Amino acid sequence: MKVQIDGSVLELAKGDITQQEVDAIVNAANSRLAGGGGVDGAIHRAGGPEIMKELRARYPNGCPTGSAVVTGAGNLKARYVIHAVGPIYRGGTHGEPEKLASAYRTSLQLATEHGCSSVAFPSISTGAYGYPVGEAARIALQTVIEFLKNEGKKPQLVRFVLFDDATYQAYAEALKELTGQG
Ligand code: ADP
Repeated sequence: MKVQIDGSVLELAKGDITQQEVDAIVNAANSRLAGGGGVDGAIHRAGGPEIMKELRARYPNGCPTGSAVVTGAGNLKARYVIHAVGPIYRGGTHGEPEKLASAYRTSLQLATEHGCSSVAFPSISTGAYGYPVGEAARIALQTVIEFLKNEGKKPQLVRFVLFDDATYQAYAEALKELTGQG
């Protein structure tokens, strides 16, 4: 599924983010930037040890929830990995929506600053971090759409790479609701 937002493409795809041929892929990292399971584990396995080496050297104190940092992408096809830290879901009243939106916004800002014309995101916080996928999808897509509408300098392509059918369906429904397209 694909929509145009003010000259850029916003696309939903099913698949494995480590295989994407885009300028930057976004990782759903933890605040210690310590590596983990899920998409984080997959990115470090596929990208090789260089990524963790760079994280330890440049960001020894980790990264706050709602923010993101950039490294090279090791053996991946992408040029950069943007390590974004989404919130752990604790009922939704602990600032989770704002922190999730901020993780996406910071990632888009970093991608733009690094001259990336294409960026791929996973569904941040909806795996081990427990964010209900319908709510997370709305926040993720709304934040990307606002960025693409309001920023002059921005990526030409933002692709969500969703790992399973249920997650893909949730994003597809949210995108239809938000844009009236599809
Ligand atoms: P978090 O801790 O932020 O919840 P997870 O990695 O546990 O992060 O899950 C986030 C989402 O990433 C889930 O929908 C999970 O199924 C998905 N995921 C896992 N591996 C991959 C992969 N290789 N490519 C894309 N998405 C993935």
